[in-house]
Amino acid sequence: MTDFVGEPAIVLAGVRKSYGRTLAVRNLSLEIPRGELFAFLGPNGAGKTTTIKMIVGLLRPDEGYVAVCGHAIGSNGVAAKARLAYVPDQPFIYDKLTGREFLYFVAEMFGITTQQRDRKLNTLIRRLDIGEFLDHLTESYSHGMKQKVVLAAALLHEPVVLVIDEPMVGLDPRTVRSVKNLFTEHTRGGGTIFMSTHTLEIAETLADRIGIIHRGELIALGTLDQLKTQAQREHSLEDVFLQLTEASDE
Ligand code: ATP
Repeated sequence: MTDFVGEPAIVLAGVRKSYGRTLAVRNLSLEIPRGELFAFLGPNGAGKTTTIKMIVGLLRPDEGYVAVCGHAIGSNGVAAKARLAYVPDQPFIYDKLTGREFLYFVAEMFGITTQQRDRKLNTLIRRLDIGEFLDHLTESYSHGMKQKVVLAAALLHEPVVLVIDEPMVGLDPRTVRSVKNLFTEHTRGGGTIFMSTHTLEIAETLADRIGIIHRGELIALGTLDQLKTQAQREHSLEDVFLQLTEASDE
């Protein structure tokens, strides 16, 4: 499969999406380079999930262009999706599979050899601490247990681009630490992460750049320092977030 190595990991150009009369995302243009951990913030209903669904090809924009590693999501969707892993905010796993069966299924879907699968899976089992329940049916899992297995599935095929809606919700502090480390390793290895979150501490400590969407519009984009300058705030990302989202309401 050809890869356009020089192309940004994600491109959104002039993207617009409405649901009936609700304009969820308006004229969004954004480029995420390879190797970047990008945090996408915004108040409830701002358009984060809608944007994410357009990146991973679950929703078609009304206008504009979306590409992953140079492959347009619409016309070259298979090539784009082969480079992507997506973790939704509500993890879904077939109830009647065990966690291991689910992970084997995902590995097969992405054409990973058994050897590669087992090597990667052993690491993920240890790092995410999922060994104890991996052979139980997923119907017995708590939200956090499902979230961990879905994260393992996303990392299993070593995607170029990992797109995650609210990655840390429901995870205990030890797992949050492991996931943070896995994310950092993923981007250091040249992978890209696009994550939406309401947990500003996660964005503050992990993100290379942060984008803030408000009422469907990108109102801020840059490093934490650049956002602080824009908001004329010296302190936390929380101050910056509140200042920028309030200012754009005035
Ligand atoms: P949250 O932080 O609350 O999860 P979000 O930033 O992810 O919010 P979206 O879910 O993208 O926001 O929603 C953006 C807008 O689109 C909101 O006004 C929402 O009501 C509307 N919306 C989202 N999904 C649908 C849908 N399936 N049908 C109609 N309106 C929708």
